[in-house]
Amino acid sequence: MKIVDVRVLLPKDSSYYNKGKVSGNLRNRGWVSRTLISNPMSIYPAYAKERVTWWDPGQEDFAIEIETDSGHVGVCANFYGGAAACVIILSHYCRFLIGADPFDTELLWQQMYRASSPVGLGGLEIKAIAGVDLALWDLKGKILNQPVYKLIGGATKPDGIPCYVTVHPDRATQWRDKGFFGIKIAAPYGVESGLDGILKTEKIIRDLRESIGPAMEIMVDCYLSWDIEFTCRVADRVRDCNVRWFEDPLPNGWAASQYAELRRRVSPVMITNGNLEYHYKAFHHLIESGATDVIQPELSWCGGLTPCLWIAAFARPYGIPVVPHGVSIYPYHLVMALTDSRYAEWAAFGDGSAEVIKPFFGLLLDQPVPVDGRLRLPDTPGFGVRLNYEALRPFTLP
Ligand SMILES: [Mg+2]
Repeated sequence: MKIVDVRVLLPKDSSYYNKGKVSGNLRNRGWVSRTLISNPMSIYPAYAKERVTWWDPGQEDFAIEIETDSGHVGVCANFYGGAAACVIILSHYCRFLIGADPFDTELLWQQMYRASSPVGLGGLEIKAIAGVDLALWDLKGKILNQPVYKLIGGATKPDGIPCYVTVHPDRATQWRDKGFFGIKIAAPYGVESGLDGILKTEKIIRDLRESIGPAMEIMVDCYLSWDIEFTCRVADRVRDCNVRWFEDPLPNGWAASQYAELRRRVSPVMITNGNLEYHYKAFHHLIESGATDVIQPELSWCGGLTPCLWIAAFARPYGIPVVPHGVSIYPYHLVMALTDSRYAEWAAFGDGSAEVIKPFFGLLLDQPVPVDGRLRLPDTPGFGVRLNYEALRPFTLP
């Protein structure tokens, strides 16, 4: 069996078709793009208020179809990569893919990765590789008539995957009442806010604990915008609020020794990271340096499912749980197949309401949603999703 065609697609309102203007695809992420969330650009007042002011076209999505001579088509809609990933795939990676056996995912991953070394690894290239890799796993599942999780370990959670939700704190009690075991909020204030930000962060966490009661976990995503002092002072002030973790507090994820030091200082609050790392070696470095309590790869950003299996293998001897960043279908197949991956993230972007739980990621159809806080995966072959062609248009090289 051979790959005979590779096609890529962009969201219809992509900035590529919009002369560089930030697309609706990014703007429509609701509270995530429109409320105050501290981030690596918060130290610059012009870009602090809304993240969409500095987001770039590489943070747009793209989709890919890979077709074989047997007529099977594997698809992926990738979170991030945009037009640049489409160009990389069509102008570079196609030469490895066309004529190849779709089951050779290790060979193809290595060829794309090694051939990218002169232009950079861990940036847009790895998101382009992710789209190809995820479409190949979808294709393998469709050819074998099996869901992807059954190809990599099977069902370790037959009763479904317990989920925590990432949402604005104003919506917290709604999600508690729907059976989610925890809530992750995005920190609005970072180092630029000083003591005022520390006190405001304390109030947000304290109010959240009061509103949801003692039986739900609280996590805080700091998006690289805190430092050791800010994190320790917040941790000290909220010690009685039973916070489970601070995620990505330090500006440089490669600062493994600082992360290891921070873990010791804020314990028993955990330090987690990984979703803003893009290279499998960075994950290995974090794990073996004792820099994280939980490792959180994003399949769409770190090269797809293939390297996430390596990352899970790095983590296992250390007893570090793998809890992937969760915005679409892909992380759930990994979590279902891994014993050490005990739960998953559900991202409630958009209006954040729990009244009707719907997937945030609009480029895929048939995505399952959690019921009573648990996500069950159907037996549909591949990743069990279809591309939403109404929101996409084919992209070809100029
Ligand atoms: Mg995060």
